[in-house]
Amino acid sequence: MDKELFILETNKLGIDLTNEMFEKLEKYYELLVEWNEKINLTTITDKKEVFLKHFYDSLTLCKVINLNEVDSLCDIGTGAGFPGIVLKICFPHLKLTLVDALNKRINFLKLVCEELKLNNVECIHARAEEYALKNRDKFDVVTARAVASLPILLEYSIPLVKNSKYFIALKGNEDTNESKNALKILNSKILKEEKFLLPIEESNRTIIMVQKLQNTSGKYPRRFSEIKKKPL
Ligand code: SAM
Repeated sequence: MDKELFILETNKLGIDLTNEMFEKLEKYYELLVEWNEKINLTTITDKKEVFLKHFYDSLTLCKVINLNEVDSLCDIGTGAGFPGIVLKICFPHLKLTLVDALNKRINFLKLVCEELKLNNVECIHARAEEYALKNRDKFDVVTARAVASLPILLEYSIPLVKNSKYFIALKGNEDTNESKNALKILNSKILKEEKFLLPIEESNRTIIMVQKLQNTSGKYPRRFSEIKKKPL
């Protein structure tokens, strides 16, 4: 995806991309490719592909929510920063928390925040399920892209979400029927399910927006409180 098409497509998502934002995305791309030589961050390194499959794809979250009206956002299993860092570049007001179980990726994200001068970003080395145990009802939006199946993601993320706020999953193809039980146990409901094709390569995408209906503290399934895995 070249610059012209990226600007056109992000405009369609309601994003008013400034020169400064585009320059930060380019700098982020350079850091990604540079550090990918030392630590495994992405299999996609071609610039046009990164702009399409990582940057634009991350921003499609804007299809279901107006991020100008969101204060705090947590991206679990963020990896090299998708969608978290891309959203922060385009919506600098966000109070962003990035969580990943791999410390080398967290160290890369700290470096990106420093180089790009991104303020109000917390980079947390933890498993999402452990982080959630001590950070309940904290965020307006929790996101996850390519991390786990939807029932597992719900278990990890819903405790982190404030009452009546949202978990948003960026997926390929998804059968939400398999999540019915998890949604019920966690007092949550699917608010929106947006299916579309990624421009150019036309692969399937599904964005699932889940609303936490009421305070579920103390009502999580037993399995949730029993997870004792250590960060990698
Ligand atoms: N979200 C990024 C993306 O879209 O490119 C990364 C996807 S990568 C396939 C999955 C990431 O989730 C890895 O960085 C892995 O360390 C992290 N991860 C997997 N399970 C996790 C967990 N339970 N808690 C925190 N991070 C986890």
